[in-house]
Amino acid sequence: MPYAKEYWDAEEQARGELWREFVNVLRPYREIGIEAVRAVVQYYVEANRSRSEGSFLSNLPGIWRDPGDRAQIEEDLADMDLGLQIWQRHQHALAGAVSKHDGVSEEVAHARARDAWFSTHHKYAVSDEWMSVLALVHAELHPSDRLPRSREKRLAELYRLMIRLTSELHWIPQMQLLRELARKTWPPDPTQKQPWAYDEFRFCGEYYSDQQPVLEILGYSRDDEFVDPMSLVPVKQEQSVPFSPTLGMNYVGFVIMRAVTIDFVEELLAFNAFESAKGSFQCEECGQFVSRSFYGRGQRYCTAQCKRRAAKRRQREKRRDEAEARAWAERAVDLT
Ligand SMILES: [Zn+2]
Repeated sequence: MPYAKEYWDAEEQARGELWREFVNVLRPYREIGIEAVRAVVQYYVEANRSRSEGSFLSNLPGIWRDPGDRAQIEEDLADMDLGLQIWQRHQHALAGAVSKHDGVSEEVAHARARDAWFSTHHKYAVSDEWMSVLALVHAELHPSDRLPRSREKRLAELYRLMIRLTSELHWIPQMQLLRELARKTWPPDPTQKQPWAYDEFRFCGEYYSDQQPVLEILGYSRDDEFVDPMSLVPVKQEQSVPFSPTLGMNYVGFVIMRAVTIDFVEELLAFNAFESAKGSFQCEECGQFVSRSFYGRGQRYCTAQCKRRAAKRRQREKRRDEAEARAWAERAVDLT
């Protein structure tokens, strides 16, 4: 996308829509579990939500229409669901295994176990205690299958089980993180903004860097003898998606998270660079993230409707408070 000359260029205004829709889809879910992940996937795969032709997001509807790819996504979602349930049931045992392995307190161990379960770094697969929890999980999921006698084969089987249950779970903390950043960055009241943790910045930076800008010349054709330096523009594109043998959640999750994170950062950069950029905010009444309109930076509600609803609620609350105060005063009179 070339630089806009003015913030209010149409391209600039479309900025921010992708991430706002993403966070708005997640908004009804208190905890991001499998239903929330499914809602996001369906939102982006069932309709072509991509604003720009070149975005990998525009591949997703085609994947959803392909029966094989769709079956793979469904299978991955089912495995994620199971992986989440296993965490719910066995988190304390897994934390206990980490506590023994690392020699740290329960609390620290629980956080490490969570990080390990919800990431693609399986560093505790070397620990006997961790693998014995997985043996319990195996017995629970496959009661009629016996684990091999040989230690090597047994560990290999348990490792495969763990990979199946956890390999796509890292999308959940990523979705949580982006939702949290939206809340911190664009609250209803701009003075309530909160700073990011360094790791949160790094998360955004990694996806953002995937674009690798190239320098192009606006309006240049091969017959032109010279290059006008004043027509140079940076063009940023999503680079290709790393190779993966299947197109399941591995591909879909990456494409969605990268597109929405880049959009989130790009809007923020425009806000920081252009004096007149108004950015986004979260409506105080309905909680939806929307772009600021003509109301300007002090705007707290997405629509006039939300503003009216908030005013009515405040009026109702005031009347109730007054009625309560009157009732209390009457009782106080009775007592004297
Ligand atoms: Zn609203």
